Amino acid sequence: MSPAPELARLLDDLETYQGRDIAANLASAAAIERAARECGETVLQLRARLVQADMAQRNGDRSGAAQVFLQIHRQAQELGSPELVARSHFHLALIYNYLGDHAASLENAISAVEVLEEHASPGLRLMYLNRLANSLGDVGSIGAARERYLQAEQLAIAINDLTRRLMVLNNRAYTEFQAGELAAAATVVERMRVVAAALGREFLIIERDTVASIQIGLGEYADAEQTLLSVLDSPLWYEVHDLAEATLTLARAQRCLGALDRAQQSLDRSRTLGEERELTGIRVAVMAEQAELYAATGAYEQAFFEYKRYDAAREQLRSAQQEARAHTRQAMFETAQARNDAARYREQALRDPLTGLRNRRYVDDHLPAAVALAAETRSPLTIAVVDIDHFKRINDTLSHEAGDEVLVAVAQLLRSVQQTVADTGFVARMGGEEFLVVLPGLGAGQAAGRLETLREAVDRHPWQPVTGDLPVTVSIGATTTQGHDAPSTLLADADRMLYSAKDAGRNRVVVLPPAA
Ligand code: GH3
Ligand code: MG
Ligand code: MG
Repeated sequence: MSPAPELARLLDDLETYQGRDIAANLASAAAIERAARECGETVLQLRARLVQADMAQRNGDRSGAAQVFLQIHRQAQELGSPELVARSHFHLALIYNYLGDHAASLENAISAVEVLEEHASPGLRLMYLNRLANSLGDVGSIGAARERYLQAEQLAIAINDLTRRLMVLNNRAYTEFQAGELAAAATVVERMRVVAAALGREFLIIERDTVASIQIGLGEYADAEQTLLSVLDSPLWYEVHDLAEATLTLARAQRCLGALDRAQQSLDRSRTLGEERELTGIRVAVMAEQAELYAATGAYEQAFFEYKRYDAAREQLRSAQQEARAHTRQAMFETAQARNDAARYREQALRDPLTGLRNRRYVDDHLPAAVALAAETRSPLTIAVVDIDHFKRINDTLSHEAGDEVLVAVAQLLRSVQQTVADTGFVARMGGEEFLVVLPGLGAGQAAGRLETLREAVDRHPWQPVTGDLPVTVSIGATTTQGHDAPSTLLADADRMLYSAKDAGRNRVVVLPPAA
């Protein structure tokens, strides 16, 4: 089993330099998750889960991935782990980008950068800045996008990471291109060449696709063809999707160049790749280019039919995408819903169903904290046990239902008196006809006065409609602490005072006198 720092380093590598082998990445992340769980490293464990979800997304399971991202985002907030909150924002930015919700994507990309801690590695920071720049580009804020690309690039320069510097430049070039800023895009391409030369490698296929697209935009068709031709037969690593996309760009360049036969060949190649690998988006784009190519050769009727085919296929693709997105949204909604349900159940488990007051479990959970807070803030805390007098008689002479009604009404009176004190206090039903009132911030004398008001409120309540001639009163035993007593001692003291009140004739308040 690897120690935590070693696991963290493995995760850093996995997050930053993932190879294209999804299965291998998944296996590594799963192994890291197991090891992290065994040594109780929750944050590392969740980071490993984020990587796995990211891989699942690349495998096409977007809705499953989205659920994990949301879930981990919540857990990260509960854990108070900024690094994990930042990472989950980063992944959510991508999910929203896929959902076409650019505003939400941008919001998450901004939060990812904001939450990222000062000491986060420059490598990670630059990835986040790059993501933010892309999101800014998507919403049309090209100026702000440039600023972030520059910051990302400067970080890459600072850590002498040419690979990621080239990645940032490639992203920037594509964003400039999409914004119609062709001259700016061409300038970025020149810088890409310098960095690639320093790296000692050719452009990869995705970089070439960017460059060629810009060249086509600038009317440099022969250059665009040249950019892509050499790469198609070279063994530079790529994904089939990238190859199919680049081949399509090549066909476009060749058509614009007037090399219609070569264009048809490239297009056929792209079509074959798209069909073999079921790349629907590519197949549809190939149809559009085919229609253009038919038109360029003067085959207008074929062009017309191809265009109609394209139109239908595009529509089909659009509705399939919409369905997939709706599925992802639904999955995310359900995750949020499940979380709300869980919170509600937790809350319900700490309440008494009859009166809606806190219950015994809540007291066990929260009384220690209330006492500790009193000690910390050097302010007194009063706890009082309130017990209904001769309650058995109400049950026996009237009915259990009448008894319940009395319980609910007394609970309401307790609540309204407690609320006039402080919102850090609470009222609980300890069981049967016994309640606990916690009053912070009042001196012993003031608290006794408040409890006397409470006793009176019960005594004077118009009980006639519920109990007829039977009176309803309460006895109260209380103690005030400076926060240096155990909760169990305080409860026992209040209980003893309650029995004194009962012994003394009921319908009264007895407060433990302060120690001499
Ligand atoms: P005392 O003045 O000494 O407190 O007498 P009491 O009759 O109030 O005390 P005792 O503990 O003898 O009786 C409490 C009764 O409360 C017994 C039980 O049947 C009744 N009780 C407990 N829980 C509930 C409830 O949820 N609803 C109703 N209606 N009665 C309950
Ligand atoms: Mg009683
Ligand atoms: Mg009792």
